[in-house]
Amino acid sequence: MTDSPSPQHGDTLLLRNAHLLDLEAGTWREGDLLCVDGRIAPDADAPGDAEVLDVRGGFVLPGLIDAHVHVTAFTAALGSLASTPPSYVTAQAARIMGGMLDRGFTTVRDMAGADFGLARAQREGLVRGPRLAFGGKALSQTGGHGDSRDAGSWHHDEHPCCADHGRVADGVDAVRVAARDELRKGAHHIKVMASGGVASPTDRIDSTQYSPAELRAAVEEAEAANRYVAAHAYTARAVNRALEAGVRSIEHGNLIDDRSVELLTEHDAFLVPTLVTYWALKTEGREFGLSDDSWRKVDDVLGAGLGALERAARGGARIAYGSDLLGGMHRHQNEEFRIRSEVQKPLDVIRSATSVAAELLGMSGEIGTLAAGARADLLVLDGDPLADIAALADPARHQVAVVQGGRQVK
Ligand code: ZN
Ligand code: ZN
Repeated sequence: MTDSPSPQHGDTLLLRNAHLLDLEAGTWREGDLLCVDGRIAPDADAPGDAEVLDVRGGFVLPGLIDAHVHVTAFTAALGSLASTPPSYVTAQAARIMGGMLDRGFTTVRDMAGADFGLARAQREGLVRGPRLAFGGKALSQTGGHGDSRDAGSWHHDEHPCCADHGRVADGVDAVRVAARDELRKGAHHIKVMASGGVASPTDRIDSTQYSPAELRAAVEEAEAANRYVAAHAYTARAVNRALEAGVRSIEHGNLIDDRSVELLTEHDAFLVPTLVTYWALKTEGREFGLSDDSWRKVDDVLGAGLGALERAARGGARIAYGSDLLGGMHRHQNEEFRIRSEVQKPLDVIRSATSVAAELLGMSGEIGTLAAGARADLLVLDGDPLADIAALADPARHQVAVVQGGRQVK
């Protein structure tokens, strides 16, 4: 991300009596942490006028990174975004982003919907929320996961409208134009729909979407701009062809096989599971606008997700934290920590939401670390999450403070 928030000059914040997480060693170091001008300072010698936050033995981690969110998805009926006034969607997004910051997420990667306007508003302090890496509108083939028309609709608008989360582009040339257009608008990555999905009205989970040539065209355009492609994909068939086309991150991947894990490591790609959303959609989805047809599709992926995560972790793939929640279900964002800890060590889950997610965003050393020089985005907990993941999974009970750019924001 090139357009990160500018540091707030002149601010000095000293965190006293902390347990500081060493992410590489997986251990805590007792000490103080000094933040100067929005960044972590090399030593803790604070000037006399520093603001002091005594955390009394609290546990300090880098601010969390969620690599799969939709900050504009105030409803699970994504198709309705196209006919909602963008001003209203923005107001809802501001509320959703504030909630994410309050849950300890200081950076998020938006996977369809958010644009440069929201990112700029956050950067300028107009909107309180996490730093935003956005991809603009997701590219979808006709009848794909980003085509929100139901089977009875004939009409198709050539021009992507307003607050819609996706745009339809068919054929290599149209995919190139769409990718270039999102890059023109500042996209940090290009999102493509490479398989069927849950919230789309007409496709099947087990369909593949986009031809290899179309996927390669998107990858070529993204790479030309020093960006990358992230692909929504569930089945091994869809995931493996996306990885072979050069896609850098696989979103969901609930039905991957051993070959998928090999391809992930061979291609230095990332897997971004989003397990919490299936659990939330199954229990609360219809309350928040999910259609009955979509609700029935949740079963196709719900049970397999944890096994996919275990398979990928065992095979050494890089795994980033994702939640993918919609509508009123955003409040479950931290529950993903608890779900993943059923098959992964707490340290590995924490890495997925810090150092590994930072790598995915191309921001290693900047975020997701407590190293000197990094942005002073911090999370203070009253319990040790390496010993009990509840310290992260229950933010309302265990979060003491959130610091963003060297300022306490909660
Ligand atoms: Zn998706
Ligand atoms: Zn998503």
